[in-house]
Amino acid sequence: MTRPDARPEASHFIDGEYVEDGTGAPIPVIYPATGETIATVHAATPDVIERALASAARAQGAWAATDPTERGRVLRRAADMIRARNRELSVLETMDTGKPLQETLVADATSGADALEYFGGLAADLTGTTMQFGGDWAYTIRRPLGVCVGIGAWNYPTQIACWKGAPALATGNAMVFKPSETTPLCALKVAEILHEAGLPAGLFNVVQGAGEVGAALTGDARVAKVSLTGSVPTGRRVYAAAAARMKQVTMELGGKSPLIVFADADLDDAVSGAINANFYSSGQVCSNGTRVFVHADVEAGFLARLTERLKDARIGDPLDEATNFGPMTTEAQMEIVLRHLDTARSEGARVAAGGHRIDREGFWIAPTVLTDLTDAMTCVREEIFGPVMSVLTFTDEEEAIARANATEFGLSAGLFTRDLARAHRVVAQLRAGTCWINQYNLTPPGMPFGGSRQSGIGRENARVAMDHFTEVQTVYVGMGPVEAAF
Ligand code: NDP
Repeated sequence: MTRPDARPEASHFIDGEYVEDGTGAPIPVIYPATGETIATVHAATPDVIERALASAARAQGAWAATDPTERGRVLRRAADMIRARNRELSVLETMDTGKPLQETLVADATSGADALEYFGGLAADLTGTTMQFGGDWAYTIRRPLGVCVGIGAWNYPTQIACWKGAPALATGNAMVFKPSETTPLCALKVAEILHEAGLPAGLFNVVQGAGEVGAALTGDARVAKVSLTGSVPTGRRVYAAAAARMKQVTMELGGKSPLIVFADADLDDAVSGAINANFYSSGQVCSNGTRVFVHADVEAGFLARLTERLKDARIGDPLDEATNFGPMTTEAQMEIVLRHLDTARSEGARVAAGGHRIDREGFWIAPTVLTDLTDAMTCVREEIFGPVMSVLTFTDEEEAIARANATEFGLSAGLFTRDLARAHRVVAQLRAGTCWINQYNLTPPGMPFGGSRQSGIGRENARVAMDHFTEVQTVYVGMGPVEAAF
């Protein structure tokens, strides 16, 4: 299949235009399916970072003062443009991440467009409240925070840029976005399209670079908020840096989420849920349900159906729409997953499927199912961020809940049962920010998404994201004479 030219017009997008500064450290863009370098961008220099922050600060005031209906209209126009260009953007997402085109055509640019459309529609609905105190009263105004920084992980570069940019812009903020250095291409297109849709210059800037560029942005006094999607260790660092200047944060971090399959579940649906929760995007999804607790009575049937279904995994050129399973996005992540598989074997896990690197160029790991596990094993405790499903068994509800909660993470959880009373009873006891009953990993923009405990702070999407990109200003209105002691 001919591979399109993925080279961007320039490394950064600042103040409404592409910007290059070749003195920044070169960052190779590697196509994960083959390991070839398909483009090179340059890390932002201090000068580039300054230009991005200065233009955002300059543009934000007028944008905040713009009629919110007009702000929303710009976002909705961008959503339409993204949908019209879905194939081109999906191909770029595939080149950036290695995810199969079959997947990116329906899950990435489209999800970004959904968020822009959703927040575009909500922009004019940023309301406050009024309170009566006898004759006096008070009201609240929701004000934008100012310049916000978005920092993305490498698994969903288009979606993350839109999920952060859409609510920030809808509420009158400016954003400087730093993609992961390993997937720098897609956010540039988001910026380009937003500006083509009529977003004034400076309001959505993209700068490239690794952690130090993110740290420079986070530490800048002009920045009011940082929204990070990344790992827990990076989250701790960014949260601490933001705290030094009392900045607001949204932290979308990692997880080791449970997926409980009760004995009465529709087993075919449960297997489909477990496949989506472990092998979509080759397992590189933060909310994945990687600890699959299956009731002992149905374990054999579950594993038999799962193994059968794995035969339909089509490994091949990600640009071929018949391919439904892609490579790891980076060589480093592939090595991490392979190390996890070694550890799992040495700790006594049985490899029921996969468990190895696939013999082809690029960074491929076979869809893997581990069994004969205990909750203490490393593969059951730590986030692997790869196509590795751990299947555990349980016998009663309380046991399943206790074991599901026995983790420091709290991003997501899921369960499959036909007993809806049980479903709601169990979900109410699961310590996770986002739960699914008889589904997994669906994240429409109208639904809050995010984690509790070590998995994060704040929520993305839905109305609640509007709160996270604004602050409440309270106004007390005195209606009578002012009394004083003297
Ligand atoms: P990392 O935590 O390594 O990086 C996340 C982003 O933070 C990258 O852009 C990175 O830059 C940047 N960064 C690193 N150090 C700093 C710093 N000190 N200050 C500011 N920015 C910094 O995560 P990955 O990219 O490896 O993504 C995988 C992780 O993301 C997984 O743990 C996964 O669970 C989590 N994730 C969470 C999601 C959620 O919504 N909860 C969704 C998707 C992923 P660079 O990498 O370029 O050096």
